[in-house]
Amino acid sequence: MNFLANKRILITGIASKLSIAYGIAQAMRNAKADLAFTYQNNKFKSRVEEYAAQFDSSIVLLCDVAEDKSIDTMFKKLKDYWPKFDGFVHSIGFVPKEQLDGDYVNVVTRDGFKIAHDISSYSFVAMAKSCRNMLNQDASLLTLSYLGAERAIHNYNVMGLAKASLEANVRYMANAMGPNGIRVNGISAGPIRTLAASGIKNFRKMLAYCQVATPIRRTVTIEDVGKAAAFLCSSLASGISGEILHVDGGFNITVMHE
Ligand code: NAD
Repeated sequence: MNFLANKRILITGIASKLSIAYGIAQAMRNAKADLAFTYQNNKFKSRVEEYAAQFDSSIVLLCDVAEDKSIDTMFKKLKDYWPKFDGFVHSIGFVPKEQLDGDYVNVVTRDGFKIAHDISSYSFVAMAKSCRNMLNQDASLLTLSYLGAERAIHNYNVMGLAKASLEANVRYMANAMGPNGIRVNGISAGPIRTLAASGIKNFRKMLAYCQVATPIRRTVTIEDVGKAAAFLCSSLASGISGEILHVDGGFNITVMHE
């Protein structure tokens, strides 16, 4: 299926082969997208270069979204390869680990709150701001959220607030960029074992619960999320913007399980 042929899409957030962004890159390359990649710091450089090569790309750029300068420099370098492109995937989240353990009111701090919102929400619009004039008409931007944005989930704590902010960011960005033909969406993914997820206390317990409580009786995979991401960034989703699509096997519609 070539439904992303001739689309140039930048992928952020690959830290390992388990990363959701890896599954997204795989699905997008299968649909014939041309891909470029970013890595957070030098620890990830050679690994991301290796993955990029698997996806027939040699465009691998440093980008730490905590710094506007790093974002601007990355897009400036991307411009040497791609003067114009068709969108990016923001698959980035971070909060200090101690925020993801225990009673929300007790563990939340001003700093934890700031970092969670800065890296996990602001960075999405910061990237859009920086590359706006490089985006083609019909470009598509995509981010990754989680059910903790809508429901209080034990141990997810301030990340839930940051994801709620991120989902509002999707709507405001969609409204601002829509007149230029740009669509902005989010995927609310079910729990998947990745580096970021392993920071959440009792994550295994959460996965085990979801396995039995999810309508499709399994947890989702990075391939499931990847396929939905490829669809949302393609012209197959030309009428969809400002949307948060749950890719969680239906978990969000349930209340009790057998
Ligand atoms: P991951 O650890 O594989 O990816 C997180 C990525 O964020 C890493 O590549 C890391 O380098 C990047 N990152 C963190 N701080 C950064 C910074 N300052 N600058 C640039 N990059 C930075 O984990 P993942 O689960 O694939 O996470 C990707 C996204 O999916 C996150 O937004 C996460 O909240 C979201 N998500 C994950 C799950 C899950 O259960 N794994 C569920 C729903 C949503």
